[in-house]
Amino acid sequence: AQIDTLDLVVLILLLVGSVAYFTKGTYWAVQKDPYAASYAAANGAKAGKTRNIIEKMDETGKNCVIFYGSQTGTAEDYASRLAKEGSQRFGLKTMVADLEEYDYDTLDKFPDDKIAFFILATYGEGEPTDNAVEFFQFFTGEDTAFESGATVEDKPLSSLKYVTFGLGNNTYEHYNAMVRKIDEAFTKLGAQRIGDAGEGDDGAGTMEEDFLAWKEPMWVALTQEMGLEERDAVYEPVFSVTEQEDLTPEDASVYLGEPNLNHLESGGKGPYSAHNPFIAPIAESRELFTVKDRNCLHMEIDVSGSGLHYQTGDHIAVWPTNAGIEVDRFLRVFGLEGKRETVIKIKGLDVTAKVPFPTPTTYDAAVRYYMEICSPVSRQFVNTLAAFAPDEKSKTELVRLGNDKDYFHEKISNQCFNIAQALESVTTTPFSTVPFSCLIEGINRVQPRYYSISSSSVVQKDKISITAVVESVRLPGATHVVKGVTTNYLLALKQKQHGDANPDPHGLTYSITGPRNKYDGIHVPVHVRHSNFKLPSDPSKPVIMIGPGTGVAPFRGFVQERAALATRGEKVGTTLLFFGCRNRNEDFLYQDEWKTYQEQLGDSFKLFTAFSREGPKKVYVQHQLRENASLVNDLLQQKANFYVCGDAAHMAREVNTVLGQIIAEQRGISSEKAEDIVKHMRSSGTYQEDVW
Ligand code: FAD
Repeated sequence: AQIDTLDLVVLILLLVGSVAYFTKGTYWAVQKDPYAASYAAANGAKAGKTRNIIEKMDETGKNCVIFYGSQTGTAEDYASRLAKEGSQRFGLKTMVADLEEYDYDTLDKFPDDKIAFFILATYGEGEPTDNAVEFFQFFTGEDTAFESGATVEDKPLSSLKYVTFGLGNNTYEHYNAMVRKIDEAFTKLGAQRIGDAGEGDDGAGTMEEDFLAWKEPMWVALTQEMGLEERDAVYEPVFSVTEQEDLTPEDASVYLGEPNLNHLESGGKGPYSAHNPFIAPIAESRELFTVKDRNCLHMEIDVSGSGLHYQTGDHIAVWPTNAGIEVDRFLRVFGLEGKRETVIKIKGLDVTAKVPFPTPTTYDAAVRYYMEICSPVSRQFVNTLAAFAPDEKSKTELVRLGNDKDYFHEKISNQCFNIAQALESVTTTPFSTVPFSCLIEGINRVQPRYYSISSSSVVQKDKISITAVVESVRLPGATHVVKGVTTNYLLALKQKQHGDANPDPHGLTYSITGPRNKYDGIHVPVHVRHSNFKLPSDPSKPVIMIGPGTGVAPFRGFVQERAALATRGEKVGTTLLFFGCRNRNEDFLYQDEWKTYQEQLGDSFKLFTAFSREGPKKVYVQHQLRENASLVNDLLQQKANFYVCGDAAHMAREVNTVLGQIIAEQRGISSEKAEDIVKHMRSSGTYQEDVW
């Protein structure tokens, strides 16, 4: 029989389809490029991957799953560390799982000889992280419905044993809300918790120590419950890292810092998302401070033609590049300096181990673009590295650092060292025997940093502004200055754009032109994240905005928008802005612009300023707010929206307290009642925060 072309095409399609089906997409998505996989996942194409965790554990022979709900990578890092420890110390067959990748309606069938961990970060106002939204809704919403038809009264989770730890920040009202609510929901559904529901506090700066203190008694409880036996933990790599002699960095298949497969192969096509950044031109950049020793950047990022859209009040994420000086230090400390251009292929040794960044790559690119090499060091990681110390003396020192909390704080944390600086402080001999897998496991992948967009989409829909203060921090007692990764990179881009012969004032030396010069001409990888921090849809409603320092960023966008609407003849309600900084001659952001907005908005715009270092007494925005109590209260009674942006630790909290006091005094009601009103404003969305 003859086969014509159409038949042939159909046959090939069928064949490709069935291979894809039977391999569960492994060849296409997972093995080739994990970033491509998450990129595909983000676009709704999860070819053949099971979303049933029980099935997945059976298939892969696991008895312990560690789920994480993570926004900035810390919860994910803790999950990986627990997985490793569970496997090395207790022989558990562990796997780490992103909450987003599974369904929960079969959890009532979870076998009682297995264990599930839930490592849950709380985000913003007691909200789940982006990857935990569906999980959270399933268990805390009104319609928890299991596939089996079991109802809440049946205690459907009675065979589920779980361990849980939350990551929160006590400066927020809904401290560790995620872990608390999930723990409550699980208990109600009959699940059995092993150990305490741990809570780590980023606000107090004790997250790591809280985690370490929680996990030991948890392991004791778990060993008893599951009849496990502890053994001497020896380091076992999670990844195989093989040097590829047949590949050079010039080879088209080698990632030199490209964020994913799409960027490697097709130059970075859209749609753009948190998994696929747009390499955006920086249209304009300038310095906002007038002092020499501190910097605050205003940048205009051009998103025209990218398909990226934003609304006033949204966030933009910037994907940073590590400073050359730190890349060099890291490679030197781990004895990789001479091999920086060597191509490496990284593979998970276990089917469930996900390689955190694209491969094949080079040591240099991995360290420069993919690994968060500058972040604070964990005591546990120092302990792990002790086994690979180049000599007995440094080994003894690292073991002491790893085991003695106070000593570690004095020598490492308080100095704000990153991992390479920490090891350098112990010995100048390179740690050449550390397996690269150990470094991949112990160091997070680079996280994009978020910025509150400081422009209005009504005024400039294709140009996103950011207002970023350059982090340059010397903590009391520390000998060196911590240079923020992203903001110093942006500073270097700005210097370069202005033709500065020495674009790196601090000798940080960035690879400004990016992988394969793809960022040449001053580009930066970005994506947009939508937020609920929004102006009222009716512009005639009054607004009260509290934004000291860079907290003014979204309010510049808000005022810009209201001024534009007023110029078009729309009725715009009263617009109050409380701004604070040190000194009007040094760091008064957008000082001249406010005058233009004032002309456009007339008397309906009022700017109140607080300068903390001008007079003998420190004046902050909350003092100004109190001074204007009567006006603020009047506007609130006219249904004004109240916004706070900036420092979460002190300012936002104090503003909340002062607002309660203003309402109590002005309305002659008890402070309890006033606090209830503030709470109600928060829950109904008239009190909105954008804090960090
Ligand atoms: P990083 O390298 O991330 O360092 C940040 C800080 O961590 C350092 O200052 C230091 O205190 C500490 N640190 C770093 N390394 C170490 C170490 N080895 N040891 C000890 N401590 C260390 N910022 C703005 O300027 N403008 C905005 O409009 C803005 N909006 C934001 C909106 C949201 C929703 C969020 C979440 C954050 C926002 N931020 C904003 C903050 C911003 O995202 C970044 O956190 C900030 O710019 C610092 O980034 P970086 O990479 O320069 O510093």
